[in-house]
Amino acid sequence: MNANLFAALQSAFPQDLDACAIECADGAELRYSWRDLERGTAMLANLLVSLDLPPGSRIAAQTEKSVEALMLYLAVLRAGYVYLPLNPAYQAAELSYFIENAEPAVLVCSGQHFGWVSKLAFLAGTSYVFTLNEDRSGSLLDRAAQMSDQHTVAEKAPDDLAAILYTSGTTGRSKGAMLSHRNLLSNAQMLKDFWAWRSDDVLIHALPIFHVHGLFVASHGALLAGAKMIWFAKFEPRAVIRRLAEASVFMGVPTLYVRMLNEAALTHEACQHMRLFISGSAPLLIDTFSDWQTRTGHTILERYGMSETLMLSSNPCRALDGERIGGTVGPALPGVEIRVVDDEGKPCASDEIGHVQVRGPNVFAGYWRMPEKTQEEFTADGWFKTGDVGRFDAQNYLTIVGRSKDLIISGGFNVYPAEIESFLNEMEGVAESAVVGVPHPDFGETVVAVLVAQAGAQVDGAALIATLKRQIAGFKVPKHIFVVSELPRNAMGKVQKNLLREQHRSLFA
Ligand code: AMP
Repeated sequence: MNANLFAALQSAFPQDLDACAIECADGAELRYSWRDLERGTAMLANLLVSLDLPPGSRIAAQTEKSVEALMLYLAVLRAGYVYLPLNPAYQAAELSYFIENAEPAVLVCSGQHFGWVSKLAFLAGTSYVFTLNEDRSGSLLDRAAQMSDQHTVAEKAPDDLAAILYTSGTTGRSKGAMLSHRNLLSNAQMLKDFWAWRSDDVLIHALPIFHVHGLFVASHGALLAGAKMIWFAKFEPRAVIRRLAEASVFMGVPTLYVRMLNEAALTHEACQHMRLFISGSAPLLIDTFSDWQTRTGHTILERYGMSETLMLSSNPCRALDGERIGGTVGPALPGVEIRVVDDEGKPCASDEIGHVQVRGPNVFAGYWRMPEKTQEEFTADGWFKTGDVGRFDAQNYLTIVGRSKDLIISGGFNVYPAEIESFLNEMEGVAESAVVGVPHPDFGETVVAVLVAQAGAQVDGAALIATLKRQIAGFKVPKHIFVVSELPRNAMGKVQKNLLREQHRSLFA
């Protein structure tokens, strides 16, 4: 049997192919039928096939969110190639790392950036650069329009690669998680049952589609159920609240919930038609969880997962499976094994904090072209080390208490301090820097930098921030830079970031 994920999604399309599959909520009032998805992905897949690419070719996309961009992802699966989504906020330094590392055969970008992006790509050996714009113009669709709308889904084995998701920013540290058709399909099928997806569900899709949450969890959920999506290219709290009356499922990062809570229009009545609110990608504050209950009468279901493993644990969906407990990410999902171990690898008792390790058909094959890194992140008995620190309670509900690495999650996006530090340290007059995450009411966490100036140099934090904004994605730029005479260090000479975090924790309170 063909293990191609697209084949499974396609066979879940409803019988009535003229029914609405996706309705755009912002801008033009566009509706896409299931037939449109079928034909559009066939034409795009035929375009890829016509390029005669080697098997396993990577197709990279750095575009704004659009239904056509989603169709491109589906067409890459359909044609049997490997999809590589990239955050459209990435600038030249970041993009060139991904292109050199992944060596995509094809890159799709917005027309606005074609000049510098194509130069980078062609230098790195990419064969084709197409454009796809927010208004559906560009060479990708122009070329696809000339293709046949009949296409037979490519044969794939379960372990064949379907997508590569880069775990963060740039310069050496960012790793490409290799996800197979089996990884994606097994997780999607399990979530379809666990979250009780139905064909009459309507999903509000307001997440970006370059990340596991919006691209896989949300899109696969609706597609595999044959359920309609209301599609927001950008999250806008008031507009989303207005459409809740027609929807039944919403997925968001905690920031989206905080933004909606700030709107007076968020009421019990506005949420009457809703079945399920799901949160993930970053910790949901207990205040947000409780405020949401009070304001809407709904209990947010919090789940936990990551690019390398897809979804790992979830609070229950159906009442018969148990209660949703705020502050926890629920028990392990069916088919997924999670264990919490101490520094020696021995299992921790209930309520004891340790390293979270996981195993299952959802766990990725390894990091793209990084065999040593891959080996380091797996135990000898095959468990993946998530890098998260957590504890199980007596009912086997998992709580994530922090991250062993100093990852900052701002508005659901990962920021690796070492990356920002390397940019800061390159700047004129900067001797050294330390970047930490501090609590932020809107983003959950945000980035703050503390730095030491070179002897005799005058450093202006605001000017450094302005420079950084031209170099890296906005969500990674420190919101504030402090200049100090020295960084706190421990006896081993390591910077004590915990002290810095503590010192600045009320900055945005
Ligand atoms: P990413 O690969 O970008 O999805 O980031 C994965 C990381 O996000 C995980 O390793 C966790 O540190 C964090 N994460 C995801 N979901 C949650 C959650 N519900 N609570 C706390 N942290 C989470």
